[in-house]
Amino acid sequence: MRSFESELTSLKGDALHRSLRPLKGPQMPKILSGTRELHNFSSNDYLGLAASDVVRAMLTDAVRKYGAGSGASRLVCGDLEPHRMLESQLAKLKGTEAAIAFSTGYAAAVGTVSALVRRGDVVILDKLCHASLIDGARLSGATVRVFPHNHLDKLERLLESSMDAAGDDGRVLVVAESVYSMDGDWADLFGIVRLTKAAGALLLLDEAHAFGIFGKDGRGLADKLGLARKVDFHLGTFSKAAGLSGGYVCGSEAGVDIILNRARSFIYSTAPPPAIAAAAHDVITRIFPGAMGERRRSELWNNVRVFTEAIADAGSPLLREPTSAIIPVILGDNERALAAASRLETSGFLVPAIRYPTVPAGQARLRVTLSANHAEGDIIALARAIAKI
Ligand SMILES: *Cc1c(COP(=O)(O)O)cnc(C)c1O
Repeated sequence: MRSFESELTSLKGDALHRSLRPLKGPQMPKILSGTRELHNFSSNDYLGLAASDVVRAMLTDAVRKYGAGSGASRLVCGDLEPHRMLESQLAKLKGTEAAIAFSTGYAAAVGTVSALVRRGDVVILDKLCHASLIDGARLSGATVRVFPHNHLDKLERLLESSMDAAGDDGRVLVVAESVYSMDGDWADLFGIVRLTKAAGALLLLDEAHAFGIFGKDGRGLADKLGLARKVDFHLGTFSKAAGLSGGYVCGSEAGVDIILNRARSFIYSTAPPPAIAAAAHDVITRIFPGAMGERRRSELWNNVRVFTEAIADAGSPLLREPTSAIIPVILGDNERALAAASRLETSGFLVPAIRYPTVPAGQARLRVTLSANHAEGDIIALARAIAKI
């Protein structure tokens, strides 16, 4: 039998071995690794809410009111008041008939894609889609087709052949992210919407990295571009800009009912803790739409600008103007990316090296993420340290 040791050795040989990094303290711009303080530029806590006083208070109040665990799956006896409140608020925010909450964004993605299509159907994904969407597609049993990132000609051809293959009784589902998690760039959403609607296929859009950040009240990129009504299913997470955890899908009443009836990650998993659902409700009701959300979003964009200018001033301008809080610095091979991350760590910065299979082979990179509560001085110091590498 193939030993675990030989498998690990081969991972290490390819610089693909991963290990955990224990950190101490809350998720903040400065974080303790052992006894060393590191500037944290790797979190998806874009608005700095995860350890904020306001979200802590929302969560602790909710724990007092609703307790800790939810006790069972939503379909057994875990369907509690905060879940309902969250879902109706989400549907209102996104302008859809219905919404459904999951324990994680991963569970939402894997469950939704596998619920919406099945054998005989076709699911078409952008090549850079997140693992959770790919896993859902594989699990569904539908035929999986992939188009190169934002490659609309290929999407159009795939749509044509897929609509024929699926036939009158089948479904064709196009899956894209609005902001791509490892590149920080946007989907060509106008093109994707146009082609998908023209073909009569369904569109699922994962807004994990856009929810809370773009659009009116943080509704997402589809809203910002005026395309929200053209998207059939809006997927997202509370684990990034919302500073909590949990996932959601918004869509038509019937579509959400199908997800509730078919998504195994919803049916066979305990409902999200009610306090998390209540806090998520409060974040999307009281922070995303209010002055606090506006202020944090503008601080985030200011920090993105500060980084972009500082790295250009230091003599190594970014290849592409950032369009989100995710800024990739592509280095190519795995060893180079690992060495760069380790040099940055020596200088006091936590910036992860992202390797295959999270990104395509040969595109290993540093992934810098910015947050509303980074200090300008630290951002400039990071930009200079990266430029030196
Ligand atoms: C993070 C992420 C998810 C998973 O969300 P979690 O809440 O972390 O499980 C799904 N899709 C995309 C695009 C993501 O970036």
